[in-house]
Amino acid sequence: MIPHQKRSWAEPFKIKMVELLKMTTPAQRRKAIKEAGYNTFLLRSEDVYIDLLTDSGTSAMSDQQWAGLMLGDEAYAGSKNFYNLERSVKEHYGYKYLIPTHQGRGAENILSKVMIKKGDIIPGNMYFTTTRLHQELAGGTFADVIIDEAHDPTHPHPFKGNIDLDKLEKLIKKHGAARIPYVCVAVTVNMAGGQPVSMANMKEVRALTARHGIKVILDMTRIAENAFFIQQREKGYARRSVKSLVKEMCSYTDGATFSAKKDALVNIGGFLALNDEEKYQEASNMVVVYEGLHTYGGLAGRDMEAMAIGIAESVQDEHMKARIGQVLYLGDRLQQADIPIVTPVGGHGIFIDAKKFLPHLKQDQFPAQALAAELYLDAGIRTMERGIVSAGRNAKTGDHYYPKLELVRLTIPRRVYTQAHMDVIAESVANVYDRRDKITGLRMVWEPQYLRFFQARFQVL
Ligand SMILES: *Cc1c(COP(=O)(O)O)cnc(C)c1O
Repeated sequence: MIPHQKRSWAEPFKIKMVELLKMTTPAQRRKAIKEAGYNTFLLRSEDVYIDLLTDSGTSAMSDQQWAGLMLGDEAYAGSKNFYNLERSVKEHYGYKYLIPTHQGRGAENILSKVMIKKGDIIPGNMYFTTTRLHQELAGGTFADVIIDEAHDPTHPHPFKGNIDLDKLEKLIKKHGAARIPYVCVAVTVNMAGGQPVSMANMKEVRALTARHGIKVILDMTRIAENAFFIQQREKGYARRSVKSLVKEMCSYTDGATFSAKKDALVNIGGFLALNDEEKYQEASNMVVVYEGLHTYGGLAGRDMEAMAIGIAESVQDEHMKARIGQVLYLGDRLQQADIPIVTPVGGHGIFIDAKKFLPHLKQDQFPAQALAAELYLDAGIRTMERGIVSAGRNAKTGDHYYPKLELVRLTIPRRVYTQAHMDVIAESVANVYDRRDKITGLRMVWEPQYLRFFQARFQVL
């Protein structure tokens, strides 16, 4: 019986249009995953039942956003939608100068080119694949300064995305502030499982870097999710709105790169935002080379309009409560089935600990990659690897990086799936867990030069 005092919440929206899904048979899935080289990135979307590959560009837009598409001003220069986006960015994030880009990595490319000199060190709270690559391509070296707890999949620290101030200070002493153009703070930390950074940590990082004249740049892809965790977990912030917390976080930084494909509820888009006028001038010249004119940066006018509206919707408390509520619901169900997952559960998905799930596999047998393939085979659920394949190789030695975390990410798109889908996912994972002893590892038979997890191919050992 349901206790009568229990009050359930539900999504703050109703469904206006649906997209039908194809159901596949086990034989069809075996064929599909083999043809995809056991890499879920190489599956065809139509062969997937529930797609948890990523929360990037997979959100459902609102009727307001769809209406916004019709207001696209597709002028080459000075589109009305650019100014709407600029206004939305100023209102919600507070940055002075805006350069739209086709997505987050477009902004990372330009930021890296205008800020990083050869030999520079860029500290950050755990690496992100495209971010680190752009830093390296610009001649810089990424240095991880996240707290140690982030590498422990079950440490209960409520803000496992925090920057370790001692590590950062030591790095500044060792290399000198002149070689550190900025500290990159990611909110939330994707590779650690969507773990948030506390407001206290943001303030401390600001104070420390200010003493050395070092800038702070946000990777603000999931900033609203991070703000929700501050509201829920950090003392003194329970009564603050997500919207006001987002703006406060930005106020401790000098600029940001943004993939609007996550928090901002659009299918494509991103931007670089800066407060420094000189750097902005350089960047707005650079964007013309790589993306498009500085008032569209690789986006259609309608894309910028949908983004401007999506940003406003993303910081609403009710939206965030339902979005993260759904992720936490799936996390609870998996924990009830004893599945080893990263805890506390982060903002954008569930991360299964593949080392614990498949303890009989060595890390160079790609346990997370193998588990992602098995999850697809069981019920057509597509997930992705976040472990040794994603970590890539050390450019100097050519060896794999062996990350502590070997994870499979079940990323939940925003406003797309129902609670019943979450139940089907939990049951499928539990079913695979029951036969985990029979799962074998993989051998990598082909890998591309950059970001190999997207395109590498495997065979069953
Ligand atoms: C997705 C993402 C990026 C890159 O953004 P794209 O839009 O995919 O190019 C950068 N940082 C983080 C933390 C991300 O999750």
